[in-house]
Amino acid sequence: MPVLFCQSCCRDTQHKAVLRKRTEDDMSLKNKFQKFNELINQLFSGVPYHKMDRVCLCRYCNHQNAVYSLDSTH
Ligand SMILES: [Zn+2]
Repeated sequence: MPVLFCQSCCRDTQHKAVLRKRTEDDMSLKNKFQKFNELINQLFSGVPYHKMDRVCLCRYCNHQNAVYSLDSTH
């Protein structure tokens, strides 16, 4: 349970970390070439390529305070 500074509470509070899958990539049909690149990348790395965001939500006010990008696959 990470303790982070909540901008809404203006103090250090406990946060719950939530993994959230990015959905905007699925929405865009124009990035087919990028999708193809991701597929190739996935095939060669052997690791499922998921763009996940780690979101930290304040336990008290549910304010979203930090987003960590988990794009790296290594
Ligand atoms: Zn808060």
